[in-house]
Amino acid sequence: MTRIADLPKPGDPAVRRNGRPRDETGSPTTPAEEAVRPTIGVLAVQGDVAEHAAALERTGARARWVKRPEDLEGLDGLVLPGGESTTFRTLLDWERLLEAIRGRWEEGMPIFGTCAGAILAADEVIGAPAPHLSLLPMTVRRNAYGRQVDSFVTQLEVDGLDGGPLKAVFIRAPAIERIGRGMSPLATVDGEIVLAEADRALVATFHPELVGDDRLHRRFVEIASGTKADATRT
Ligand code: GLN
Repeated sequence: MTRIADLPKPGDPAVRRNGRPRDETGSPTTPAEEAVRPTIGVLAVQGDVAEHAAALERTGARARWVKRPEDLEGLDGLVLPGGESTTFRTLLDWERLLEAIRGRWEEGMPIFGTCAGAILAADEVIGAPAPHLSLLPMTVRRNAYGRQVDSFVTQLEVDGLDGGPLKAVFIRAPAIERIGRGMSPLATVDGEIVLAEADRALVATFHPELVGDDRLHRRFVEIASGTKADATRT
């Protein structure tokens, strides 16, 4: 196990786009490519917003910081970062984002909840008086691994993810105790689910934005692109 304090500083800087946008290889993208490039929001009231945005841009998506309800318009997906779910809740209520995010979810927008973001998405939270966004049929137990000092890093075997084990950083992480209909587990630690997927959602109890490995962001962008393609077809 590695101590959190020994980790390198997160993330490369976001792909710079002066003038024409560039794809992940650094080549300018064509207007046709631009048209299909998904726009993914990152809830930007707290947490590793810049690191998530950088990871999304490295996959070729366009990232947008979401601070107000109007920032949700036209998004193909939304990342709910880690942080402190109680603080998130206060800020979501304050900015009128709670109802706005729920509304966009009901319209079909996919979400990627990480750590506190998974807590926000769950329809049952152990350790909170009530659920928050209540988007997904799952029970999440807050601070399942103890206090801040019990944070840890481990290697995960992830179902269907090519390229070997995924490094995962757990910081005062929750555990997923139940997933309901339509959700499948993708990875576990000591028998508890730490990563799960639904048709248009991905939830992780750890921090995928901190390890410089964009495979989960890529997977989410694929989910969001699939939903975008379906919406265009119908
Ligand atoms: N412990 C936090 C909470 O309960 C989650 C921690 C995190 O997002 N890293 O909201």
